[in-house]
Amino acid sequence: MIRNMADIDVRQSLRLVLQQIEAACSRRNDKFAGIKPQLVAVSKIKPAELIVEAYEEGQRHFGENYVQELQEKATSPLILEKCKDIKWHFIGHLQANKINKVLSVPNLYMIETVDTKQLATQLNTRWPNFGPPNSKLNIMIQVNTSGEAEKSGLDPNEVTELAKYVLNDCSNLRLEGLMTIGKYEKYDYSKVANPDFLCLIKCRDDLCSELGLNWKDIALSMGMSHDFEHAIELGSHYIRVGQMIFGERPIKI
Ligand SMILES: *Cc1c(COP(=O)(O)O)cnc(C)c1O
Repeated sequence: MIRNMADIDVRQSLRLVLQQIEAACSRRNDKFAGIKPQLVAVSKIKPAELIVEAYEEGQRHFGENYVQELQEKATSPLILEKCKDIKWHFIGHLQANKINKVLSVPNLYMIETVDTKQLATQLNTRWPNFGPPNSKLNIMIQVNTSGEAEKSGLDPNEVTELAKYVLNDCSNLRLEGLMTIGKYEKYDYSKVANPDFLCLIKCRDDLCSELGLNWKDIALSMGMSHDFEHAIELGSHYIRVGQMIFGERPIKI
């Protein structure tokens, strides 16, 4: 159950989510045994103080989906002082005019939402101006598995081409894997698998067979508060959980 903000105890919620992750791992097919799902705590709209609480509980990976908000939090004295080893994931739509801003974020760990060749090119060209010498920027390709017009991400049948471009022509980028949000729908997971997650798995498998890669080397980022356990059972490597940890967000206006 997602609880509301007033009674949220971040530390306790985080522990609960971690227990649920463990339990979901134990239900997986043996072929996923080597995959340790990484929880990305999505802190959008939530204050830096709550991030510090989760950090002190051991959480290191955090996700934000607005560049301005990410930059403000990542450079705030509180976070810089108390969360020295934080790893930021950018999980929102990245506009071309915000690229320098996002790349200048201290402790930026990964951009999960690359969905065009132009964006990959720009990140690849500019990263050397921002990152440590000879480092590579971790990126994921965002796939619009549900085909919803309002969601970002590229078409499933364009994934291999973009992945090939990143692998062959973007030496400053490291392709970590594929990311999707999927349609928000209450499925009965005891009966059906989430079709958008299956679509992302198929994109990964097609890409690996076409480019001769091992499927274990292309991670999947799928699963949010309402479906992360299911995503783990399907082999997800990164789950992005916000409200289950930090409490409900106000409805978007
Ligand atoms: C907000 C957000 C999440 C987390 O959603 P919750 O329902 O709060 O768990 C995950 N991924 C993306 C891309 C988001 O924007």
